[in-house]
Amino acid sequence: MPQPSIQEQIVALEGLAVIDAELDELNAKLEGQRDALAGKKQRLAELEERIQASQSSVDEMERLKGELIHELRQMSLQLDKSREKKARCRTEREANAVQRELEELRKLFRDRELEVEKLSALVEQARTEIDATAAQRAELLSELGSSEGALTQRLTELAAEIGERDRARAAVAQKLPTQLARRYDLVRKRRGSGVAHTTDGTCSGCHMAMPRQQFQVLMRQPKFDTCPHCSRIIYFKPPEASLSADGATDGA
Ligand SMILES: [Zn+2]
Repeated sequence: MPQPSIQEQIVALEGLAVIDAELDELNAKLEGQRDALAGKKQRLAELEERIQASQSSVDEMERLKGELIHELRQMSLQLDKSREKKARCRTEREANAVQRELEELRKLFRDRELEVEKLSALVEQARTEIDATAAQRAELLSELGSSEGALTQRLTELAAEIGERDRARAAVAQKLPTQLARRYDLVRKRRGSGVAHTTDGTCSGCHMAMPRQQFQVLMRQPKFDTCPHCSRIIYFKPPEASLSADGATDGA
């Protein structure tokens, strides 16, 4: 295969630069869509986790409440027994002792009752929170459900567009000498773009002035060089070509 002329290589490099810029944009869009989806799924998982944690704390509180209620029933029976015992007392001393026992039991009973009340309030609060979180989850789920189809389609479209550009890119890159294509890719990875031109000694990539000597050599013969400031592949673009090219780009 004959080596393509410098002019042909310039056209290929510029074509590559256009495709690569489009690819960057498409890939950013694809990533943005994926991130949005991942963000929603992450949020859903967090809500799920919160509901489960609250539910297990409710379960634990209910278990404790059950135990306390059981204790209350036992105490109730004990109180009945103590009252009967008091009724059967013969001496005042005996009656006083049973009375103290009764008061002690009543106090314990009241304390347990308060604990049950507190737990009931906490359970109710936790249930309200669970309901609110479940509502958020339902909203997010329906949002995900209704947008999923559209999102999947968008992702497929983007992937197809990217595939198309990739094929176009490969066809253009094939026209370039391997080493030049490799240099272009290397700089592009670092700088975002790999090729620049100069018309008046200023690099179109980094906007810095090239050394005068280097620019003059570049101007005199069709060749590629490297911008000493940004390392982009640089070539000379005559003023007229630059003007007409800019005009064409503006019009597009
Ligand atoms: Zn430069």
